Amino acid sequence: MLVRDFVREIDHLAPFALAESWDHVGLQVGALDARVERALVALDANETAISEAAAQGCQVLLAHHALLFQPLEAVTDASYPGRAALRAVREGVAVVAAHTNLDKARGGLADVVCGVLDLEDMKPLVPASVEVDKLVGFVPEGDLEAVRSAIFAAGAGVIGDYIHCSFAVSGESSFLPREGAQPTVGSVGQDQRTGEVRIEAIFPRAQRGAVVDAYVAAHSYEEPAFDVYQLENQATREGLGRVGYLPEATTLGALARRVAGMLSLKAVRFTGEAGRRVSRVVVVPGAGGSLIEQAASAGDVFITGDVDYHEADEACRLGLSLIEAPHETVEEYALERWCERFADGLARQGVEVRFHAQRRRLWSQTDEIGEAETVATSGEGTALTRAVASEDERYELYVDGGARGNPGPAGIGVRLLDPNGEPVEELSDYIGKATNNVAEYQALVAGLELAVDRGVRKLTVLSDSELVVRQILGQYKVRDAVLRQYHEQAKRLLHQFQEVEVKHILREENAGADSLVNAAIDRATK
Ligand SMILES: [Zn+2]
Repeated sequence: MLVRDFVREIDHLAPFALAESWDHVGLQVGALDARVERALVALDANETAISEAAAQGCQVLLAHHALLFQPLEAVTDASYPGRAALRAVREGVAVVAAHTNLDKARGGLADVVCGVLDLEDMKPLVPASVEVDKLVGFVPEGDLEAVRSAIFAAGAGVIGDYIHCSFAVSGESSFLPREGAQPTVGSVGQDQRTGEVRIEAIFPRAQRGAVVDAYVAAHSYEEPAFDVYQLENQATREGLGRVGYLPEATTLGALARRVAGMLSLKAVRFTGEAGRRVSRVVVVPGAGGSLIEQAASAGDVFITGDVDYHEADEACRLGLSLIEAPHETVEEYALERWCERFADGLARQGVEVRFHAQRRRLWSQTDEIGEAETVATSGEGTALTRAVASEDERYELYVDGGARGNPGPAGIGVRLLDPNGEPVEELSDYIGKATNNVAEYQALVAGLELAVDRGVRKLTVLSDSELVVRQILGQYKVRDAVLRQYHEQAKRLLHQFQEVEVKHILREENAGADSLVNAAIDRATK
């Protein structure tokens, strides 16, 4: 697949025409005719995501937040976006942005969140205006199929998930060919009546020229008759935000808890009485502060992020409760789920799509640090201990990552053992071309995610990578930008355990995980 085909795939799922006028979406850096075999999807198109894409052998990075947002006067390394764009060019990574178009699209980020919350009868909060026109043509019966196929091929007849949509009805046409005409039907100077079919189909306004040209070319008449109408349709399922109903009314507090649980957050903020009953829910992933008024007339409660004090005050005045879903958290959550479907579609066309979890959180909270976090040394290895240790129900997680070449084909191996020492889960995954350290970190992150998913509360993590262990324990600085992302991700995961310890072990002690690494690389490179 070429970059242009990749861009077209995105346009199918999240039409770029849906984007807000101030937004910048589509291909931002790269050549349309470059080949794509693997793509990386991430929330932010920043320098680390570009490096990550390159490290994973991806030729394109699809991001929700654009790389280039303000117009640039020069592309140099003196400005931030210029530096990142140059890096993308150097690394051979094309950058594509799908922002407000992906928010508004059917099955886009807002729909993903509503789906997880089981909302019903969803409608857009602000329906998208759809820029469509209609072609009405008059075609002799014998030309009908040829004309239909031609206008469909030019982009007419698409309504949501349906293509080849048209309507036709038979009637009678009249005409009189004048001197000089070369009529396909009838003769010069004679009034003519003939059977014709009126065919109608809609098409995106941008395709007007192509559709009209296709119609005229496929029609056998010298002067084909047709009309183009400008429509004022509104999308019924596309637009900014969604309004939907909970299958059963619940309390604001219970819904807020569900949102926190969905996003794996310890807590989320909300406004209003916790016991208030709510059933009509408005969802705007990202920043919804400017939509308070619309949300208040559509729903009881508004799940969104980036609401400032005055906007929240306005919501209170209008009787609208707010549940804060942090901008980056909810968007990455939704993007990751959207990406699964996207990856399935592209896999059928031979392109591998990977998701890169950035787990960005610019803000930390004081209750997440402090007394609980201490660095301790225990014999051979070293340990990071949080909270009070106790012996019961402690799981062991062996993690290992390795690359053949640095970078080279790489794999990860993870073994989770229950308190009786029985293996309960194993991972043996190929991760593409990576460095040893990236593989070690990816193994750690994957292992921790697996343990979190299983609900493990007390854990000992064992890794034979001295670098990873020492960086996690804060004994080594993390200078590399790519490793820093994994490091932050691992630290956040470590915080999810009631009690956790990270230990360095010898390679020989990690033979189980090591053989899973080798098996993964063998499978992939055979
Ligand atoms: Zn956003």
